[in-house]
Amino acid sequence: MIRINEVKLPLDHSEVALHDFVINKLSINKDQLVDIHIFKRGYDARKKNDIYLIYTLDVTLKDVDEEQLLTTFANDHHVKASPDTSYQYVTQAPENITERPIVIGMGPCGLFTGLILAQMGFKPIILERGKSVHERAKDTFRFWRTRELNTESNVQFGEGGAGTFSDGKLYSQVKDPRFLGLKVKQEFVAAGAPAEIIYVSKPHIGTYKLVTMVEKMRRKIIELGGEIRFETRVEEINIDDNSQVTGVTLSTGEVIPSKHVALAIGHSARDTFKMLHDKGVHLEAQSFSVGFRIEHKQETIDAARFGKNAGHPLLGAADYKLVHHCKNGRSVYSFCMCPGGVVVAATSELESVVTNGMSQYSRSERNANSAIVVGISPQDFANDPMQGIALQRKLERNAYVLGGSTYDAPAQCVGDFLAGKTVSQMGDVEPSYKPNVKFTDLSTSLPDYAIEAIREALPAFNKKIKGFSNADSMLTGVETRTSSPVQIKRGKDFQSINTKGLYPAGEGAGYAGGILSAGIDGIKVAEAIALDMLNA
Ligand code: FAD
Repeated sequence: MIRINEVKLPLDHSEVALHDFVINKLSINKDQLVDIHIFKRGYDARKKNDIYLIYTLDVTLKDVDEEQLLTTFANDHHVKASPDTSYQYVTQAPENITERPIVIGMGPCGLFTGLILAQMGFKPIILERGKSVHERAKDTFRFWRTRELNTESNVQFGEGGAGTFSDGKLYSQVKDPRFLGLKVKQEFVAAGAPAEIIYVSKPHIGTYKLVTMVEKMRRKIIELGGEIRFETRVEEINIDDNSQVTGVTLSTGEVIPSKHVALAIGHSARDTFKMLHDKGVHLEAQSFSVGFRIEHKQETIDAARFGKNAGHPLLGAADYKLVHHCKNGRSVYSFCMCPGGVVVAATSELESVVTNGMSQYSRSERNANSAIVVGISPQDFANDPMQGIALQRKLERNAYVLGGSTYDAPAQCVGDFLAGKTVSQMGDVEPSYKPNVKFTDLSTSLPDYAIEAIREALPAFNKKIKGFSNADSMLTGVETRTSSPVQIKRGKDFQSINTKGLYPAGEGAGYAGGILSAGIDGIKVAEAIALDMLNA
């Protein structure tokens, strides 16, 4: 097969345009072209009224000497041999293997660690503190309705992990020479995700589809001999005098032995981070970001990004990605943008308010939202990982009080925030956060440098997205869990640098930042565990 990159065609090109392009590009006749497979489709909307689709194509030819053709195009970097993107298992477990690896956490990272281990014949035991996704969904929606928080079953904790109630964006900037992201997406499609996630450049799944997919993937792991235990919190990692993991102790007191433990606990398991710190597992402080969710009408973003093409079915609801470097040395950026979505209450601790965003596959809610956050570096919290967690917690508890101590979130219109005014009323943009918001002064909700930076950034963003800093755009606080404040350092063998047999993985350990990269990291960790188990 031959791959052709950067094929640029107008947004409304005809069905035959791709065929015509390939035939002309390769100077072949139409009978020699057997099939065109779209490997990737993105768009270039830098000129909003002149938008182009950008394709990467894999074409199957007949009666063509492909080697000769590649020689002809040797100096054209747009034409290459199509790479082999199929996933190859690194090993297979022997029938008589007795040790079972343990995976802690069933977010995307733990899910893929468990799935790949199971597919290789190692029968993993997956331990998840939260409930199965169906039960968890009930607890999460109950909290949003009634303000009753279950600290073990919520947006952060439970089957599917933190990204379950999300927009389900599936792109990442991690280097992926082995196409592991494709393996993640193929497993998602096998579990019911729309097939287009394989080839569109910014795929998303939406929250309801994710819930049913996670259930199907669970069934697959169990069919392959894996075991999954919900409502099972790991209280302690057991480590012998040679710094070798020997197993885990559960909150029930039960001990499960294993010399191979994947730690895919996400960024919100603060009690587990503390346990690891107390046990002497090597942790380091890591940068994270804090800020607000901003909401606009989706039509404002669509018009700014797509102009007359707003509403085009191939473009969907518009997104954006913004960054501004401030005079005070801080950077402000947009994060986890959710077109046509809602702002959600994402705390896992009592008397705390944390925001995040989610949407359905259709992205048809009236508002667009994203986090507008300011980077915080370890120097801001004495380079101490526990202090980073303490800072997050302080801001979340402060937001709870600002919101009226009822789990309502503190909110303010952008106009009032920029003018330093305390209160006002809602304008055209109705806040979507549930249970509710309380209008207040957000300037005390974050460190002064963060407020100063966001006040500088919002008007700058308005130059890129017209309407961004409109007076009635809505800010809801606080966004504190953009990434883990902790890195659990691992070596090239994927094991903790001071605890053998412990495999820190995914976002909580600092090795992923999103659903796709967490899944990719899960595959890598499964491979490392499998190879080590066979060498032992
Ligand atoms: P997690 O998903 O956090 O999973 C960790 C799991 O470990 C949890 O289920 C937890 O219950 C369990 N656990 C923790 N401690 C223990 C213990 N001691 N014992 C047993 N189990 C334990 N990313 C995207 O790419 N796209 C998006 O659209 C997107 N939207 C998001 C929306 C929301 C509301 C949130 C909260 C996050 C979103 N993210 C999104 C981020 C994404 O969800 C995370 O990057 C991803 O889930 C990290 O995966 P993980 O497996 O490393 O950790």
